Amino acid sequence: MRRCTVGRSKVEICHDVESKGVCLRAVENVEPGETLLTELPLLSTPAAQKLAARQCTEAFCARLPKQSPEDQIVVCLAKRWIPVLYTFAEAAADVKEAVLSLQTDFAVPDSSMAQMVERLSTLLHSSGLFSGSLQTQAALSKRDIRSVLGLMIINAADTMPDGSEAVFYMGAIIEHSCSPNTKFCIQSCDAKEASKLLGKGSETQMWIGEWRATEAIKRGEAVTTSYLEPELLQRSCASERRRVLRARMGFECACASCASCSDPAKLVFNLAEMD
Ligand SMILES: [Zn+2]
Repeated sequence: MRRCTVGRSKVEICHDVESKGVCLRAVENVEPGETLLTELPLLSTPAAQKLAARQCTEAFCARLPKQSPEDQIVVCLAKRWIPVLYTFAEAAADVKEAVLSLQTDFAVPDSSMAQMVERLSTLLHSSGLFSGSLQTQAALSKRDIRSVLGLMIINAADTMPDGSEAVFYMGAIIEHSCSPNTKFCIQSCDAKEASKLLGKGSETQMWIGEWRATEAIKRGEAVTTSYLEPELLQRSCASERRRVLRARMGFECACASCASCSDPAKLVFNLAEMD
């Protein structure tokens, strides 16, 4: 599998037998401020989509219904993620395999977000946008389309400062926690450094993801990060954070700080919480 980590990582992938999930664990004791992981994106979109692809995206979005709030969210999802689907369609086989090995299914299959993704996948597949007609692009099945959309949403794919989108392989495996022990930082490197890291020529500047410890982490401890904005994280109410996570990413937060919160408020799906 393609390696994306840079330098020495202080984490390893760990299969959790109990939850059947995967997570990252620290392989040594780490002090606050230390870097645990530095990684190049596994998949990243160009900052500007090619003209032909952009025109197809715009034509597709223009035909989508825009009446209900759900319709409008589907349009937003299409605009944000179609460039990633194009990049995925053009990616090398080992990159595709690595992308599809990450979690692509929603933890709550009947969540509103999961339903909207299903709807958009059906529309994209029947539109012929990914039937393989654009230059070097390979055709995508409906399952591929749904998987890539799910992956981007579930793993809180990151928007880089230039507007491009990036998926980090190890970064995607880091679990969410409302009291995380790492912080995600985006670093840039110029074309020369990028060539050195990739071992081949690169003409463009690249973005690198870095996860730094925000507190002391013991060897063997799970490494966590937050998928929520700091303002939202600081709110003490677990039910509110859970509602946003469920609406945006289709999962129920079971982190220690949510589990210890006794707020019995019902988890209600609220469209106003979505962006
Ligand atoms: Zn939580």
